[in-house]
Amino acid sequence: MLYQSTRSNHSVSDCQALLEGIAPDGGLYITRDLESLNLDVRQCLNKDFRGMSAEILGKLLPGIENMEQLIRASYAGKFDEKDPVPLVKAGESWFLQLYHGPTSAFKDVALSVLPRLVTSAKVSSGSSAETVILTATSGDTGKAALAGFADVPGTQIFVFFPYKGVSPVQEAQMVTQTGANVHVCAVRGNFDDCQRSVKKAFADFAADPVEGKSFSSANSINIGRLAPQIVYYFSAYADLLKKGEVSFGDPVDFCVPTGNFGDILAGYFAKLMGLPVGRLICASNSNNILSDFFRTGVYDTRREFLKTTSPSMDILVSSNLERLLYLVSGCNAEFVSDCMNALKNTGVYTVPGDFRKALEESFDAGWCAENQVAEEIGRLWRECGYLCDTHTAVGSRVAADFRREGVPMVVLSTASPFKFSHAVLEAIGGDASGSEFDQMERLGVLTGQKAPENLSGLNSKPVLHRDVVNPEEITAYICSKL
Ligand SMILES: *Cc1c(COP(=O)(O)O)cnc(C)c1O
Repeated sequence: MLYQSTRSNHSVSDCQALLEGIAPDGGLYITRDLESLNLDVRQCLNKDFRGMSAEILGKLLPGIENMEQLIRASYAGKFDEKDPVPLVKAGESWFLQLYHGPTSAFKDVALSVLPRLVTSAKVSSGSSAETVILTATSGDTGKAALAGFADVPGTQIFVFFPYKGVSPVQEAQMVTQTGANVHVCAVRGNFDDCQRSVKKAFADFAADPVEGKSFSSANSINIGRLAPQIVYYFSAYADLLKKGEVSFGDPVDFCVPTGNFGDILAGYFAKLMGLPVGRLICASNSNNILSDFFRTGVYDTRREFLKTTSPSMDILVSSNLERLLYLVSGCNAEFVSDCMNALKNTGVYTVPGDFRKALEESFDAGWCAENQVAEEIGRLWRECGYLCDTHTAVGSRVAADFRREGVPMVVLSTASPFKFSHAVLEAIGGDASGSEFDQMERLGVLTGQKAPENLSGLNSKPVLHRDVVNPEEITAYICSKL
């Protein structure tokens, strides 16, 4: 199947798109065929999570062989066999818990599969080059990608995170990562600086290739990250069918705490593939550039970058919005290219009014200030006995503004509350003093819940990575390690 760049008519096979991650012209790979994949939605919804994954990924990435087996091997021992992504009701909303994987954030769902997709694509395309994965992270992608790629033969992985810009637990997760093929490095700057310089490194290596190496991405710019995320929208819908909350064909609304626009875009893909998705609600923290964009049609990065209690959403340049621009403009690469050039040169672009109308057919957007995030965590705990993390709280709070009578609202729950114990403790009125591990333990005692072992066990692990670089040094840093 063909994947095109969002910025030109350059196209490649699905396997090649997986291997490259990003197109040579800086665009993102996307297929125009989402609506004509002929997925039998009803039949797909009868399968279990792994069956659905094989079906959906098989349609999107037909060049990958033995998809069923690949999926089962990817998730074996990492997620609960029966219910990997449970759907839980609390108050008025349903919470789709996506964080029960090896690093306690939703990125595990896709990053458990991506290494096998890349390895398999390499076999299919007959490439013998070593795959070098370059990843910028706002906190959670890094660890999930490291866990996925550590010691995978024929690969190396580099993770760049904002220096002092991730939570202490997120940092501890990354700097204690073992594996002979892993490199973890802090960057003096914020996530946008990391993402921009990693994209620059891709361009540098495209212009000046390294013998025997091919570069790819574990960020949601890689289509192999988005594809597995489509599946849990189906799984949530199937659960609501089983519970008798909807009949087949009824709409279900989804509210998605959003940063790089990958998770919510996967929901739009699910809709285009035929799932009866109602409204998709884009929820931002106080870095509310996306909700401004949906309201005004102006994407304006000329604003202060704020550090919040939901650091995985502290992003001003949401990469995957580019794919949405492409789809909604009727696959107009010139339009996308103009927007991206304006963004690069002036920090802002504007879409026409009819384009914004087209967006409104599927999307709503809202945002949530820091005090509201804390209030929402406290409210859910007091009123419903439901404990959630800061990112999920953003979604939950914004969802309340868009609830429709008779339509189930699913909030994507993207991380374990124990990953952000400090903010969660403060929000529920607990004592948030001491180290992050004291806080984790106290949160457990206070709520009667148990921190996942992958988090509570971190403080006994040695720090293995201490490198810090400036953004413009990333390409040289990578070369020095290869
Ligand atoms: C990455 C992340 C998000 C944002 O997801 P995007 O796909 O970047 O929009 C939200 N919450 C958590 C916990 C995350 O790790």
